[in-house]
Amino acid sequence: MQIILFGSPGVGKGTQAKILSSKLNIPHISTGDILRQAVKDKTPLGIEAQKIMDKGNLVPDEVMFGIIKETLQKPECKKGFILDGYPRSRAQAVSLDKMFEELNFGSVCLLAITADEEELVKRLANRRACRVCHNIFSYSDIKDTDTCPSCGAKNSFYLRDDDTEKVIRHRMEVYKSNTAPVLEYYQKLDKVIFINGDAPVEQVTLNILSALDKKMKKQAATSA
Ligand code: AMP
Repeated sequence: MQIILFGSPGVGKGTQAKILSSKLNIPHISTGDILRQAVKDKTPLGIEAQKIMDKGNLVPDEVMFGIIKETLQKPECKKGFILDGYPRSRAQAVSLDKMFEELNFGSVCLLAITADEEELVKRLANRRACRVCHNIFSYSDIKDTDTCPSCGAKNSFYLRDDDTEKVIRHRMEVYKSNTAPVLEYYQKLDKVIFINGDAPVEQVTLNILSALDKKMKKQAATSA
């Protein structure tokens, strides 16, 4: 199954993608993580992307097409994957659809996670990432430790440059103007499932798994 996790910055796509990846045993592909790794490695892509990311803008579509094409052709993506942070523009959605056709990926589903915007701004400003495993934590959960609960790395927590309030608000605007049309695109294809992201993490995971289960059963019934 090919899953696209969709929603506003801070809605929990990364957190849910990691949990689902381990439960469903399919890779988690985060375009944000791929770009952050390139920034860390100071590759030409990373040097170009950093300036754009720090402002909360989108990396050009042509650059993103190349990254995603290379990633989806990897053998580990054959049995399915979870896309987190892609597509983020209508042009990315259209090109992704073509890629899916070429690669014979048939059971695409977009999970649109929704949540209150003001809650999300608070959540983003209050989160910390681990430099080593890229997991995201609420500051209140890690403020008394210097060890990452996921990978055990020491002193690896940091506030992302794009998680300051000014940049967060700009990212929300970019989401509304550039990324929200992606939802319309997939709604027309009847591939969208809405998930309430205002619940605790574990509950959101249960809601997603139950929605996916229902979808699989419906698919099996129609193809029988
Ligand atoms: P994320 O970790 O998904 O919040 O992404 C962090 C930043 O990486 C975004 O604010 C963009 O600058 C860039 N980025 C990630 N995915 C994409 C994409 N699909 N298209 C354009 N820019 C992206």
